Amino acid sequence: MGGERQRMKVMLETLQQDVITKRLQVDDPSLRWMLKKGTNLKEFCRDSSVQVTVGSDVDTQVQITGKAAEVNQVLARVKAYIQENRKVTKMLDLPAGSSRFVRGRLKRIRSDSEAWLYVPKDLENQLCIQGNQRQVDYAEELLQQVIFVEYASISLHICSKLVGEVVGKNGATIKSIKADREVDIQFGEATEKAWTTTQIVGSREDCRAACSEILEKLKCYEVVSLQINSSQAGLIIGKNGSTIKTLKAGLETREDTQRNPWIVSGPKGDVNELVRRIQIQFSVAVLGGLGTFRIRCPGCAEDFPDFKLLLKHVDQRACAARSCVGRCGAYYPDEGSCLKHQAWCPFVRRCPGCDAGFASEAELTKHVTAKACKARACRGCRVIFTDIPAAELHEQSCDKYAERMRDVEVQRQIQLLKETLCPACRMGDQKGSSCANCKAILRRAQLKWHPDKNPADEIVATIVFRSVQAVWNGSPQWHTADDGAESACPTTGAKEAEKHKQKTGDEASFGSRTAECTVQ
Ligand SMILES: [Zn+2]
Ligand SMILES: [Zn+2]
Ligand SMILES: [Zn+2]
Ligand SMILES: [Zn+2]
Ligand SMILES: [Zn+2]
Repeated sequence: MGGERQRMKVMLETLQQDVITKRLQVDDPSLRWMLKKGTNLKEFCRDSSVQVTVGSDVDTQVQITGKAAEVNQVLARVKAYIQENRKVTKMLDLPAGSSRFVRGRLKRIRSDSEAWLYVPKDLENQLCIQGNQRQVDYAEELLQQVIFVEYASISLHICSKLVGEVVGKNGATIKSIKADREVDIQFGEATEKAWTTTQIVGSREDCRAACSEILEKLKCYEVVSLQINSSQAGLIIGKNGSTIKTLKAGLETREDTQRNPWIVSGPKGDVNELVRRIQIQFSVAVLGGLGTFRIRCPGCAEDFPDFKLLLKHVDQRACAARSCVGRCGAYYPDEGSCLKHQAWCPFVRRCPGCDAGFASEAELTKHVTAKACKARACRGCRVIFTDIPAAELHEQSCDKYAERMRDVEVQRQIQLLKETLCPACRMGDQKGSSCANCKAILRRAQLKWHPDKNPADEIVATIVFRSVQAVWNGSPQWHTADDGAESACPTTGAKEAEKHKQKTGDEASFGSRTAECTVQ
């Protein structure tokens, strides 16, 4: 009895020695609350007799008690859970002017990512994302797509004299341009400047459509400067403006007569007509059209008469601005923004090896073929892989690759065989079966390539075998494809055969060739 008790005591002691407690500090109360959930506790302690308690006291936040080995295992599970579910906050900068557009898409991103997104107070161009790491990462990804693919902004310089025409009476024109489009159009300060900076922002498609509608409209207008000195000015204007009133009869033009030169603006036809009428009566020099709009480079604020010239300027890398390599027409004030766009742009072909972007599949193929990075294409189907091992792994199961390798092998074997034949037999000028030397060679080849003798390489053997048969029968064509109808290279093959025939046209030379063959 005493021995039994002693044994129990020892067992209990070893058990107690083995039992340990580990504590984990989890300061986030909501995370502690999640840890405490029954299903989570059960999951942490699965396959073990470990006890996990979650308290609110600083010292007893998370306690794991049990056998040392099991405790460590459970601790790792709890830590992994915390890592995955720890709340993360990320601030993201929004491109100037995009805030409204982005806010319109927050609901969708929220429901897709399950992260919490909001625009912080007084920080119009920032966005706050909250959630666990996975949710925040996903929300950020969705946001990047919104900012760099869905959203666009175009900056125009509109001739200040014509801003009124774009806005229209009581804003009617601008309203109709914006109607049914997700765009916002902002005009810069109305100053004395010749140009008014205009921002068109919104969805990429609508932005472009609104912009081209504005530009189309402006193309109907003209702005002309006239060299008019002060003595002439008085005459043209007349008493209380009576002369100019007569000149303008029936025309919808506007004249800035405050200084020399005058600026005349309005519908194209009307402006030209007024200038014509003035020039009939007065000798006035037309200094030229001023242009009605310019497109601003976001990188350097220089402006251009059309998008083509702007993109040319950007492509020359004259300033920090960059355009999309996918040639989708998007351009950005800096390389960083452009790269982010390219990461999502559907027009960009990406190299899996180095992540570089290309305008087309052909350019990407050229890059991979030149072995510019570690990416490699399958030698059969041409699909591109990150590196040589990945491509080779794919080739093992690629039908196209197997087919191509088979063709290469067939070509090689036939070439080897051809080289052992005399020129006449090679060209099919005589049957291989009528020339002693070639007869022996072809006999051996027939035996070697008989499909029954090559069960492992039956297809290659069959094609080579058929070629041997064809030469035996005096066919000028060497069969390569498994349909047996095509020669290795039909055109050059035929040409060679022709040349050969011309050279060996007479009986004598033919005979000498036969002799040559038997000597061989
Ligand atoms: Zn620029
Ligand atoms: Zn693009
Ligand atoms: Zn690459
Ligand atoms: Zn392949
Ligand atoms: Zn021969």
